[in-house]
Amino acid sequence: MSRHGGGIYPSAMSETIFSKIIAGQIPSHKVYEDAHVFAFLDINPLAPGHTLVIPKEAKPTIDLLSDESAAAIGRALPRLCRAIMKATGCSDYNILQNNGRAAHQVVMHVHFHIIPKPASAQGLGIVWPAGAIEPIAAGVLCERIARALA
Ligand code: AMP
Repeated sequence: MSRHGGGIYPSAMSETIFSKIIAGQIPSHKVYEDAHVFAFLDINPLAPGHTLVIPKEAKPTIDLLSDESAAAIGRALPRLCRAIMKATGCSDYNILQNNGRAAHQVVMHVHFHIIPKPASAQGLGIVWPAGAIEPIAAGVLCERIARALA
């Protein structure tokens, strides 16, 4: 077990460089910390103010996160967005959250990118290969998801 500023979480195979940042074993440009959440500047920013918001709980993907951590992240995100908007002067921004290698996740500790979108070419570029929804298949999927939630 490891203790992080009030929260106790199992230390396991899921420990990554982000656990070391939370523990202060690796330096970071910290912008925020509470009992469950830590936020720091991305070391390779897409734009000034690019910030990573992470739970102290060391879980690789968001589907594995406890309700407690998820709620704390949900509370911190809008506050951090407001602060980053104020500090950078950017009114536009993206929040990106990758889960799994195929989905471009490199560090296997849940993290949300807050990426300011300045008027320049900086910020997140998105390729969005949109399809068309097929009503029958969509209905089946809806039911499956609803059943999985129950
Ligand atoms: P992802 O592809 O969503 O896993 O993104 C991982 C992010 O972590 C990248 O944007 C990296 O630049 C960032 N990163 C990796 N190591 C560090 C570090 N030591 N300090 C700050 N950001 C980091």
